[in-house]
Amino acid sequence: MSVVSTGQARFEWSSETIIEVLRGRYGLRGLSVTALGGELDQNSAVSLEDGSSVVVKVSPPGADLSHIRWQHELINLAGRPDVLGDVQVPTVRATLDGDTVAEIDHDGSTRAVTVQSWLDGKTLSELSAHSSSLLEELGVTAARMVRAFDGAPMPPHSTSHDWDPLRAPELVADGIASVSDPVKLDEVGRIISWFDRAMALHGASLPFSVVHHDFNDFNILARQDPDGRHHIHAVLDFADALHTARISELTVAVAYAMLREVDPLTAAAAVVRGYATELEITEAEIAVLFPLAAARLCVNVVTWTRRNVEDGTVYGFERMRHTWPTVSRLAATPPELAEAVLRGAAGLPVAREALPADGARCVVPDLDPSPLDASAEGGQAWFGRHLEPDQRAGVRRSTVTGQSATLRLGVAIEATQPFAVHAPFDAVIESGFASSTTSSGTPTVVLLRHDRPEGNPLWSRWTGVATPYAPGQSIAAGELIGRAVPELSGVGHSTIHVSVHRSLETASQATQVLVRPSEADAWESVSPDPAEFVGLPAARRPEPSGRWDAERVVATRDVHFARSQRSYYQRAMNLVGGQGAWLYDDLGRSYLDAINNVSHVGHANPRVVAAAAAQMGRLNTNSRFVYPGIAQYAERLTSLLPDGLEVAFLTCSGSEANDLAIRIARQVTGRRDVLVVDGAYHGSTAVMTGLSPNRYKGPGGTGPDPTTHEVVQPNGYRGLHPYGDPAAGSAYAADVRRQVDRLTSLGKPPAAFIAESAMGAAGSIFYPDGYLTEAYAAMRAGGGLCIADEVQVGFGRFGDVFWAFESQGVVPDIVTVGKPIGNGHPMAAVVTTREIADAFDSGMRYFNTFGGNPVSCAIGTAVLDEIVDQGLQQHAAETGRHFKAALDELALRHELIGDVRGHGMYLGVELVRDRQTKQPATEEALLVSEFMKDEGVIVYPTGLDNNNLKIKPPLPFTPADVEIFVSTLDEVLSRDW
Ligand code: PMP
Repeated sequence: MSVVSTGQARFEWSSETIIEVLRGRYGLRGLSVTALGGELDQNSAVSLEDGSSVVVKVSPPGADLSHIRWQHELINLAGRPDVLGDVQVPTVRATLDGDTVAEIDHDGSTRAVTVQSWLDGKTLSELSAHSSSLLEELGVTAARMVRAFDGAPMPPHSTSHDWDPLRAPELVADGIASVSDPVKLDEVGRIISWFDRAMALHGASLPFSVVHHDFNDFNILARQDPDGRHHIHAVLDFADALHTARISELTVAVAYAMLREVDPLTAAAAVVRGYATELEITEAEIAVLFPLAAARLCVNVVTWTRRNVEDGTVYGFERMRHTWPTVSRLAATPPELAEAVLRGAAGLPVAREALPADGARCVVPDLDPSPLDASAEGGQAWFGRHLEPDQRAGVRRSTVTGQSATLRLGVAIEATQPFAVHAPFDAVIESGFASSTTSSGTPTVVLLRHDRPEGNPLWSRWTGVATPYAPGQSIAAGELIGRAVPELSGVGHSTIHVSVHRSLETASQATQVLVRPSEADAWESVSPDPAEFVGLPAARRPEPSGRWDAERVVATRDVHFARSQRSYYQRAMNLVGGQGAWLYDDLGRSYLDAINNVSHVGHANPRVVAAAAAQMGRLNTNSRFVYPGIAQYAERLTSLLPDGLEVAFLTCSGSEANDLAIRIARQVTGRRDVLVVDGAYHGSTAVMTGLSPNRYKGPGGTGPDPTTHEVVQPNGYRGLHPYGDPAAGSAYAADVRRQVDRLTSLGKPPAAFIAESAMGAAGSIFYPDGYLTEAYAAMRAGGGLCIADEVQVGFGRFGDVFWAFESQGVVPDIVTVGKPIGNGHPMAAVVTTREIADAFDSGMRYFNTFGGNPVSCAIGTAVLDEIVDQGLQQHAAETGRHFKAALDELALRHELIGDVRGHGMYLGVELVRDRQTKQPATEEALLVSEFMKDEGVIVYPTGLDNNNLKIKPPLPFTPADVEIFVSTLDEVLSRDW
């Protein structure tokens, strides 16, 4: 028998013995036995003849029966209805003579056997990622478990338990000799010193309770619900239950939740948030929580290292792949920051004390702090504020789940010439600190200690300042600390960075300049705003109650908007900025935008912004006045359309343009009826809603107007005539002919056929070759007009053509354009022939207050200039080809992708549950979009079944952005949800 394969190997029973015991003592017929893990017990899963399974636990010889019976009492307490909500615990099976423990003599020793029900689910350790809501549920469950044991009997003997978090230093001391790596020794030593400090201050005030005490990620099961998300489903293994500090329950849950996380504090905060909704956390408990949880992981690594060194035990040792890196991350986390983060999560007040005002003085007197923007005219200095998004850092990948660091810690000053930096308070250069140096060897990160007559000292950290002093030297208030020199910034500017800290530990560890938004309040409490240190007026972050954060914006929208006006995403981003193909939220997180085709030439395009601002500052009026811009723009826009389409009506929205186009067609033909393509969307006015199957057939729809007639959607993926069928175009167009004939024979020939040049809201549908040619011919043969709705797809997005209808080789009678035309400014247009425009002129005047105003015309012109000057049409062709190929490749690996289609930078990915039945994967599409957003990529479902991911980014989207999009989608599709 091997004694090294697992910790339990020494006591192992054979499968036959287990099956025999089950039969003889429990009357259960076992079929097969699978070994499960366990530190002391031999645990096995046994499948039974009736199809169910049980867990058989065989205790080591000499196990204390009364203790096992006590654990069973706890299982019963936790298993009472509603105690843990929907979360289950195993039930204990009784032997044939009604006992819950069977004592079995075998091979010369007596062993206690218990049998429990098998619960399905994946252990938390098996899930590739843990959502914050799952971690919150874990916290909720831990709190409920503690409550379940309120008044529970005490354990029969006051046993001391090896894994009791309160005993961490002792256990670490026992095994530390097995750890040889000096870095690891230092990390463990630091964490244990935090433990000692916290326990010395608060240990005596900790409340005690019976606890389950083993919320580790092997003992918690999760299950995927129909909503596609994992929820906590069960808590297993009561064998480590104990009477100890009540906070131990949360400590263990937090410790294991931090494993594998790049950002352990965010995971810990989620667990604490959940716990605190159920159970109050005391001041003493919150103060010890982080040191205890970190120390618990130290016990793990040290114990498993010791056992592995001593006797080759592998059980537990393998987990250290995850545990050591987490211990390292925790050791690099200032404990006071961690406490502040967890306090925030627990709903406990986080101190927000300002810097003492008396020491505030301008330390950079040779700079004028007023120009806050380096690009401002005559500006010589730029000041970046404490805990504000550092957007100048440019486009960055940031994730919501992974919570990238996006806020600047401290103040940054960048100036075009070198400047001197003076000490705000009397200071001592902190000994032993001199990190990066200039080429001449001068220290450039200066850490100062400011002793204060009353109160604790403060530390300030100055990066980018070359100082002539050595550690230990004193500097009086107002004296020179050093000089900011361009040599250090690499861009010829002098850049310094200043942060202030309440502890040396935080000051020494605050090597990062950016911190996570979720930790901003915590950072503010441990590192106050140094603005006054550098002579800037302090600008405190508003109190949480004064912030327009995502939650408040959504709640206020809910009050003041109709429910029918939905917003994107379950956890909405609170957007405050954009640039090119990227958007930013209030927390400085950046999102790659793959859906805003409106921002055609890029968010906040400088040329468009400048044109708008300049025109706004000069003249804005309406089109009954005469001004050059409107004439120039009409000439420019119509020049881009085929010959003959030369008369423009400038409107404010695509809906309005389509509404006007229908009105023109009806008046010009003297007819009422209109043909639309099934699934189309043409706008939100009363007329266009009745002409949009996407609305009138969707939720809340009341059917078409009596004058609306659908033609079959030419869909190569789902329709009767699939991709590759050379006759598909004609076959689908035949339906237009049928409808024209039918209506004509009924005495109401149609006024118009309106079709998007490629279908947007229907889910990026591209017509087969020849479709519009034959459909237009049929309509014209019936005496009606052909309207191309180019609102989604025009202005070069298709790449090979400027207008999407050109890809079908047709020239419409009326074209409507919108969305990208004004790059986000509300403008749209109807363009038609002189003949039709004249026929519309019945004497009734047409006037549009805002359409074609000077500002809109200036913007429209700037958009066209930008398309040309940036070569965006060509760029769309190349990037779109690359995008489509990358998505096609992804479809080879992910079954959920049913179809990928695209033309230039207008693409769609249709998700299906089954490639045979093509059942729409509606919920999945929404989840994928939510997860993509959490990873910093914006995409959203569309189509009648909302199972198509629409992809229509601002055209500055680069091939590198394509990589980000595709790799993120790949990662999200590979997840366990
Ligand atoms: N036509 C199409 C094809 C559209 O996609 C839309 C908007 N989604 C419209 C018209 C209506 O445009 P707007 O929202 O500017 O009124």
